[in-house]
Amino acid sequence: MTRRGDLPPADPRRSRDPAGAVLRAVLDHGPIARSTVARATRLSAASVSGVVASLLDRGLVREAPEAAGPPGIGRPHVPLDIEPDRVAVIGAHIAVPHATVALLDLRGRIIAQRRDPHGARDPAAVLAALADRISVLRRTRRRILGLGVATGGWIDTTNGTVVDHPLLGWRDVRLGAVLAASTGLPTRVDSNSRALLRAEQLFGAAAGRARESAVHLFIGNVVDVAFAAGGTIHHGPRSAAGAVAHLPIEGHTEVCACGRTGCLQAAVSERTLVRRAQAAGLIDRPELSALLDAAAGGNADALAMFTERARLVGRAAALLLDLFDPEVLIVSEAGANRLPGCLRALRTEAAAWSSSSADVPTTVRASSFGRDVLAVAGGATALDHVFATPLSCDSAASSAAATRADLIQQDA
Ligand SMILES: [Zn+2]
Repeated sequence: MTRRGDLPPADPRRSRDPAGAVLRAVLDHGPIARSTVARATRLSAASVSGVVASLLDRGLVREAPEAAGPPGIGRPHVPLDIEPDRVAVIGAHIAVPHATVALLDLRGRIIAQRRDPHGARDPAAVLAALADRISVLRRTRRRILGLGVATGGWIDTTNGTVVDHPLLGWRDVRLGAVLAASTGLPTRVDSNSRALLRAEQLFGAAAGRARESAVHLFIGNVVDVAFAAGGTIHHGPRSAAGAVAHLPIEGHTEVCACGRTGCLQAAVSERTLVRRAQAAGLIDRPELSALLDAAAGGNADALAMFTERARLVGRAAALLLDLFDPEVLIVSEAGANRLPGCLRALRTEAAAWSSSSADVPTTVRASSFGRDVLAVAGGATALDHVFATPLSCDSAASSAAATRADLIQQDA
């Protein structure tokens, strides 16, 4: 159980929503007594007591009597913890070749997930298939607080729109509104890196440092970046921050769709790696997981492909270290996340190309979420909202229904 003396100083930059502050204190320090929550959040004991009653009522926190110490000290001293069983969020991730849907608890742990290749890639087909899989995940006794969706490209988080996703060929897709209408769930949408950076801040292995300042670099078919300072992730006035697909990187000759040579995404994207691996006869199906399995199983040629990619990613990491000087730089890249040699190669290259004095081994980290990054990305987009304003989640369900009515009216 967390004691008062264990607490770091209260963070004055946190959201002013008192319920959000209390829920995050329980997430970070639970099991924790109400009096310690008050100290951590700088809220009055009466405010904490009122908020906790609402959070208990909604099944977001629970009393943890097994950690309560000797009997007779009274109910306010029964510590609180995050409720593990009564609620969940649904996370969805739309990649270029497939979509992932998952059920996550409030600590961001995955309860269930599935991944399916797209049939047709047009937005209507992909979103209809997603809605069907989401409806299957909802056959749970848990109350679903919301849906979060993460994908690549330029994502406008304010209205849940995919402004531009060149690899999918999507433009101005009202993803959030469409899924809110088809599922009836409050729906949030964000980019891969922003979603995963939020996940690192909430649940990651270096969450405390990631809340100070952080950069997240996502390497999939799409490559994007997010950065945060003072706990806040920067979106930009057009929600366009983080587009690094065409960042010039030395050391490769891959021609990008933009016509230039040297672009980061063309060099390190999964499709590039898969294409080369197929050409070299290393895999018999066009899937990165096949190459990864080969590398993990000791195939030297497969491992060399991942190591070479890790070096190029390390050069991009060096630029980002110099640009932002973050507490942590987190890389979601399949090789670095699974093959220790790749993470070493990435760090070595980052150190060699960076002119900053950052301590690369402690600053440059692999994702906290390993093979589950895609499921966590979607889930974190929903959980971000839960932890910001937890008491609004239920009323949001009715506003999603209102959005559905609006859409039907517009379509009619
Ligand atoms: Zn380019």
